[in-house]
Amino acid sequence: MEVHVQPRTRSKMFCGCAIAPLNAEPNTHVCEVCLGLPGVLPVPNKAAVEACLKTALALNCEIPRHTKFDRKNYMYPDLPKGYQISQYDLPMSVNGYLELGGRRVRIRRVHLEEDTGKLIHAGDKLHKAWESYVDLNRAGVPLMEIVSEPDLRSADEARDYAMELRTLLRTVGASEADMEKGQLRAEPNISIRRAGSEELGVKTELKNINSFRALHRAILYEVERQREVLESGGKVVQETRGWSEAEQRTFEQRSKEAAEDYRYFPEPDIPPLELDRAWVEELRAALPELPAVRRARLAGMLPVAVAQAIGGDRDLADLYDTAIANGGPPVSTANWIVNEIAPTMKLPSGENLAELVKLVDGGRITRDQGREVLLESVESGRTPAEIAAEHGYEQVSDDSELRVLAEAVIDSNPKAVADFRGGKKQAMQALMADLRKRAPQANPKVANQVLLELLG
Ligand SMILES: [Zn+2]
Repeated sequence: MEVHVQPRTRSKMFCGCAIAPLNAEPNTHVCEVCLGLPGVLPVPNKAAVEACLKTALALNCEIPRHTKFDRKNYMYPDLPKGYQISQYDLPMSVNGYLELGGRRVRIRRVHLEEDTGKLIHAGDKLHKAWESYVDLNRAGVPLMEIVSEPDLRSADEARDYAMELRTLLRTVGASEADMEKGQLRAEPNISIRRAGSEELGVKTELKNINSFRALHRAILYEVERQREVLESGGKVVQETRGWSEAEQRTFEQRSKEAAEDYRYFPEPDIPPLELDRAWVEELRAALPELPAVRRARLAGMLPVAVAQAIGGDRDLADLYDTAIANGGPPVSTANWIVNEIAPTMKLPSGENLAELVKLVDGGRITRDQGREVLLESVESGRTPAEIAAEHGYEQVSDDSELRVLAEAVIDSNPKAVADFRGGKKQAMQALMADLRKRAPQANPKVANQVLLELLG
């Protein structure tokens, strides 16, 4: 699988142009360099190199001492230079792996290159009046290409791999990896083989898949298509195919160019990079706790499913850790995160979450009140104790106060009391209702106990 990821940088790969927001007017984020005008000199973006190295280190890759950029020649109007600057035989990193469900998916390489522009075809089919436009805002935007060895065995594994990569990229801060913004695109290479055979069949490559769901479906479709071709006596053709979301099928795009068609050669305008070892080691030492390690640590203190859910998302895991550091009880804090926070991803501060969970666990406010307090705390940033006090949510759990209340309830409900003592246990509901009317903040559990004691 090849995965293209846009690293988190302010500017493009080889020039000072800012990264265009999605709604930018076409061709407003361009300059001489990314327009490919003659006589200009590209300069590598250090932030992109750093993001690539962080990713490579998190993927357990080796970082060679020297790396260089190469020209990949192709004539297509989405890159006006007539070539793409990429990396061929000396990539930024090689030979890593990603832990996935207890086994290793080998990573062949993580390298840097530049993105292409976007072609927009418009016009009128009926009159064959076609017009094509090009928007070069994306031309020259940095891309990391993460290439795995053929170790993925199913559509499920391929999807899990892409999701785990996204978590990893966000954890190390290399990319926001937002698929909806095109910051992570997957290109699975798919081939099948007879059960028991070691040899993989001819592969097809699916281009630019931009959702996990599409990735899963496209692979399932393509496996089935190849099986039908082979079983009807045909041959699978090596080619690039696209995925039609509307039709839920893959379709032929172009037959695959062999590597030599691109006539790669070293980029003459950028000297080879010598990667400073001290810098590489600094980046390695500064890597945060990686998702697999974090999940293992959380699994030591939480039920497996809860640990998976929290450990799979950096924001939730950070929230959990800060809430625990602020005294939040581990299991209830985890449950609040999974049940109440994860569905909306509206995050309170760790401190406020810890305080909220303690209020609920200590019986000072009810769970329902806790939900409301949580929402308000997220919106206003104020502390749960403040909000609860303002709403008068603080529950009365004090025995002596509740005893006075319960006695008043018993005095004013002689019929319900007689019913209850005569064996009609449901009469308790009427007594509790009266008690709640008198004191909405009464802790229902404790109040019920006090009533039972007095009636018994
Ligand atoms: Zn530019």
